[in-house]
Amino acid sequence: MSSSRICVAVRKRPCDADKDIVTAQSPQCIVNEPKVKYDLTPYTERHNFVFDEVLDEKVGNREVYNRCCRPLIDTLFSNGNATCFAYGQTGSGKTHTMLGHDAEPGLYACAAKDIFTRCKAQNQEVFASFYEIYGRKMFDLLNERAKLVAREDADKVINICGLSEHAVASVDELFNIINKGSAYRAAGMTSANAESSRSHAVLQMEVHEKGSSKTIGRISFIDLAGNERGADTFDCDRKTRMEGAEINKSLLALKECIRALGVGKAHVPFRGSVLTEVLRDSFLGNSRTTMIATISPTSAHCENTLNTLRYTQRVKDLSGGGQAAQVDPSAARVAAAKGGNAAPNNKKAQ
Ligand code: ADP
Ligand code: MG
Repeated sequence: MSSSRICVAVRKRPCDADKDIVTAQSPQCIVNEPKVKYDLTPYTERHNFVFDEVLDEKVGNREVYNRCCRPLIDTLFSNGNATCFAYGQTGSGKTHTMLGHDAEPGLYACAAKDIFTRCKAQNQEVFASFYEIYGRKMFDLLNERAKLVAREDADKVINICGLSEHAVASVDELFNIINKGSAYRAAGMTSANAESSRSHAVLQMEVHEKGSSKTIGRISFIDLAGNERGADTFDCDRKTRMEGAEINKSLLALKECIRALGVGKAHVPFRGSVLTEVLRDSFLGNSRTTMIATISPTSAHCENTLNTLRYTQRVKDLSGGGQAAQVDPSAARVAAAKGGNAAPNNKKAQ
């Protein structure tokens, strides 16, 4: 993991034999070259990006944790604010990375295991909260989806009023509540899969001295809403357009806040969205952030993948450090390639 306060990683998921069509005409469009590079070769063009960590389809959740997230735990235990985002289009592996499944626990579980071990040795305890940000509204996933509001107190600290906190002492206990909360996330929506990807889910763990309400540190995992530009590119109803606009706004605000954090700017534009407003502390003081951009391997998703990589590269560049990236900005040709109009000089992924 990068030694700076921000680690920017990209994770490619494996091909799904059932859903991803990979042929000579529709090749995998992503290959990774030496260590910190990703090449996107959508038939006609080659795009180079440089990140702190590049995680290919062979890298499991445990290794993602070790390479990108482990130092966040030190920040949490040194009175800090640690944050980990999963960013990418729907179906690219954000929830797989964060939540995982029994055979391959995700970052929530890997982090919780380390946190509980340290808490036990130091006589500390952990409180977990789990909520979602949907449009400009927030809902407590651990309290029957009760509506939440953010308020700034007299000390200029943003509090989420009414957010329930649950004492947890083991990974099993944490997962009991996460599983219940995830069901609420889906149940509150009409079509679970499609619509839960329109909200940001935040799992927060706070460490306290036993018996004290004073927080030692906090870690937040944010499974961001899908970044596909549904609102701009597809026929959709007003509600979906509004959702899309709000998601775009929050992702732009997030980029701006990370930029401010990276360059040590005095003014951080938190107020750009509910997401950045409630995460304000995560960008101030003793804080450390990891962003994991998840991408699909196939050319069918090429356009969204390119968007994801560009955004993430921008975060990387803005966050200070890092090498300059070579980016060919010709999205139009990529779009054309996606539509199959760029056949003559098709190049297979190399
Ligand atoms: P998202 O949350 O970004 O919409 P998911 O995490 O639900 O996407 O992933 C979509 C599908 O791909 C799921 O079936 C998931 O198990 C699978 N998947 C995603 N990433 C990986 C990975 N790195 N390894 C194995 N399977 C993955
Ligand atoms: Mg998901």
